[in-house]
Amino acid sequence: MAKICLCLTGKTLEANLETLEKYRKYVDLAELRADFLDPDERLLIRRFPALVDIPVILTVRRASDGGRFQGGEGARITLLCKALAFAEVDRRKNFAYVDLEEDLNVPSLEEAARTFGSRVIRSFHNLQGVDADLAGRLRGLLHVGDEIPKAAVSPRNLADVLSIYRAVRGLEKQEKIVLGMGAYGLNTRILAERLGSFLSYTSARDEGLAAPGQLDPRELAETYRFRKIDAGTELYGIAGFPLTATSSPPFFNKVYSEENINAVYVPFPSDTMESFMELAGELKLRGASVTVPYKEKVLPYLHAESEVVRAVGACNTLVATPEGWQGYNTDCRGFSDSLLDFAGGKDLKGRKITILGAGGAARAVAFEVHRLRGKALILNRTASRAKRLAEPYRFAWAGIDSGGAELISRYRDIIVQTTSLGMEPGTEGDPLPDYHFSGRELVMDLIYKPERTRFLKRAADAGCAVRNGYDMLIRQAVYQYAFFMKTEFPARLLPQMRI
Ligand code: NAP
Repeated sequence: MAKICLCLTGKTLEANLETLEKYRKYVDLAELRADFLDPDERLLIRRFPALVDIPVILTVRRASDGGRFQGGEGARITLLCKALAFAEVDRRKNFAYVDLEEDLNVPSLEEAARTFGSRVIRSFHNLQGVDADLAGRLRGLLHVGDEIPKAAVSPRNLADVLSIYRAVRGLEKQEKIVLGMGAYGLNTRILAERLGSFLSYTSARDEGLAAPGQLDPRELAETYRFRKIDAGTELYGIAGFPLTATSSPPFFNKVYSEENINAVYVPFPSDTMESFMELAGELKLRGASVTVPYKEKVLPYLHAESEVVRAVGACNTLVATPEGWQGYNTDCRGFSDSLLDFAGGKDLKGRKITILGAGGAARAVAFEVHRLRGKALILNRTASRAKRLAEPYRFAWAGIDSGGAELISRYRDIIVQTTSLGMEPGTEGDPLPDYHFSGRELVMDLIYKPERTRFLKRAADAGCAVRNGYDMLIRQAVYQYAFFMKTEFPARLLPQMRI
C-alpha cells in the first residue's frame, strides 16, 4: 500500500517537529528537507529521527534539482556523511532512508547508510519534462538491489502524464517512487498506488506547499481517501481547463466515503480533450464530469448520447460502457431545478430572461428556458454564437457590447450569467460592466467560485435577489451521481453536501 510522506521544509528542527505533530495522524513517514534548514540547524540533523517515532527520509536537495542547497557538492556530502555515519546502534534512531541523486556516487556514504540501516532512495529530477524512456531510466537507477529508484518528472501536458502511466506498466513489481510534478501531475500523487509508487509526497498547505502540484496530507488522506485506494478502486474524474475552481472532487469523494464505495474522483486538468480521452482509457475511468471549455468539444468522442445531449449540443457527463462513452447532460435539470427554486413557480411562462454567454453552459440554460416556456435574449461576446444558439428557440440575440446591453431592458425579469468571466482566478472580470441593475431583476450567476462574482455583487448591491451556481452544481452532481453509480443519490446526505 502506498504511503503518505510529509515533506518538512521548516527553517528549524523545532518548526518541523511542530508541523509533524499537526499532521501525524495522516502520514506514514516524513522527509526532512535539510536544504530548507537554517545553516546552524543543519549541524543538528543527526538528532532528528530520534525525536520522532516515524521513519524519516533525509534529503539535501541542490538547487539544480529544485532544492535550496546553495553550497558546493563537498559541503553537501559532508552534511550527509555526518548525518548517516556516527549513527546510533539502535537503527530506529537513524534515518530510515536517504535520498541520493543518481549522479551522487560516494561509496563511503552509501556504505555508512547501509551499515546503519538507512535505505538509499536513488533519485532523478527532470524539471523540464518527462523522459522519453522513463521506464529505462528508472531501471538504470538501480545501482544495487536494495535501492529504491525515484523519478520526479514534470509533465507539461496531459499526454506527458499518460506517458508516465504507460512507462510504469512494465515495472509494476519493482519497488519505486514515481511522480509527476506541477498541476498536470496532481493525479499521479493521488493515484500513487496505481503507479505502484512506494509513497506520495505531501506538504503543509499553511506553510506553503513544498512543491508545485503537491497536496496537503489531510487533503490526500481525507478528501482523496488515499489509504483506501487499492487495485479494485473504481476511478472517476473531471476534465477541464484550468480546473482551478471545481468543487466536484470534494463532493463525489465525500459521497463515496459516506457510502463506503471503493471509488475515487480525481481532477484532470486537460490541455486537450483528446489527451484526456486517451488517459481515461489508460486508467479505465468508469465515468467523468466535463467542464469548461470542453462541453461541446467532447461530442465527437461519444459512442452514444442521451436525447438531451443531442438537443442541447453539450455534454457534461461521461459514463464508460463496453462499447464506448455514453454522454449525458445534467446541467439542464440542475439549472432549471435551481432556477425554479429561486424564482418560484412551476415554469417560466410569461417571464423575460436574459442569458449572458453562448458556451456549453448557456446551451443547457437556453434549452431549459425554452422547455419551461420562457422568452429569452442571448448576449455573447461572439455574436455569431449567440445567433446560432438563439435561432432554433426563436430567442432574440446580440453581441454583448453596449448595443446588446440596451436590449436587456426588455428581458430583465431574470438575468442568467453563464460566461466564465469573473470565475477564479480572474475574479476582476464582469461580462456587463456598463449595465445598471434596476434592483428588480432576479440574477443568477452559474459561477460559484468566488461565492459572489463582481457581477453578482453589483446586482446584490443594487437590491436584486441573487443566487450563485453552487446550488445548481449540487443539483446537477446529484443527477450525475445517479448516472455514474446507476443508483439514486442517497437523500440522507443532501443536507451535508451543501457546504
Ligand atoms: P464555455 O463553453 O467555455 O463558454 C464560455 C462562455 O464564456 C462563452 O460564452 C464565451 O464567449 C464566454 N467568455 C469567455 N471568456 C470571455 C471573455 N473574456 N469575455 C466575454 N465572454 C467570455 O464554458 P461553459 O462550460 O459554458 O462554462 C461557463 C461558466 O459556467 C463557467 O464559469 C462554469 O464554471 C460555469 N458553470 C457552472 C455550472 C454549475 O453547476 N454551477 C455548470 C456549468 C457551467 P465566446 O463564445 O465569445 O467565447
